Amino acid sequence: MAKPKILVIEDEPDILEIIQYNLEREGHKVVACRNGEVGLSRIRTEDPDLIILDLMLPGMDGVEVCRQVKNDPVTRAIPVIMVTAKAEESDVVLGLGMGADDYLSKPFSPKELIARVKVVLRRAPLREESGGGERVVRGSLSVDLTRHEARIDDIKIDLTPTEMRLLHFLASHPGRVFPRAHLLNRVIGEDAIVTDRNIDVHVRALRQKLGENAEWIETVRGVGYRFADAGK
Ligand code: CA
Repeated sequence: MAKPKILVIEDEPDILEIIQYNLEREGHKVVACRNGEVGLSRIRTEDPDLIILDLMLPGMDGVEVCRQVKNDPVTRAIPVIMVTAKAEESDVVLGLGMGADDYLSKPFSPKELIARVKVVLRRAPLREESGGGERVVRGSLSVDLTRHEARIDDIKIDLTPTEMRLLHFLASHPGRVFPRAHLLNRVIGEDAIVTDRNIDVHVRALRQKLGENAEWIETVRGVGYRFADAGK
């Protein structure tokens, strides 16, 4: 199997070099770009398997690049890992809200970089079914939206429609972090009068019903929630 092609957009030459060196050492093909405009046009011509995107870029910034990638049906399915400076928590939230799949905080080690890349590439095929898959199975858990039925070890758990959609959505994207606002839009709907904290109430109720499996829903401090990636 051919090694995935990874497109990197990073304006700092030293960091770009480190990323490129380590990815190539893993056998990846790397396309390196120094700014957002060039990066965006190369994404369309190169059709990469993954994009590593620095947030702070001169000219078009990383959030705008991400927004355009995720708004274009041709490029939407390409996973994006955002690279942020450590202090930019609000940027992480913004980027994830734009559809980025994961993030790396600077400074990061080559080991961390390679690990994130592996995780994101491994779960990438799941993206295709995220919109229409009505039934999701994760180990002992199954959630069937059409039949409004959730089961653990084949035992039915009683969920409200919102809890059902929340669990289905999170379980459809294991390991991926979603900001509260994003979850609200996806599972409650844009017209509901709600605050970000409202999602916490639903998560708390959902965890209670999951009982000893409550840890499937993980809190990512300052960002939001994710479905645990491993162990099921
Ligand atoms: Ca930068």
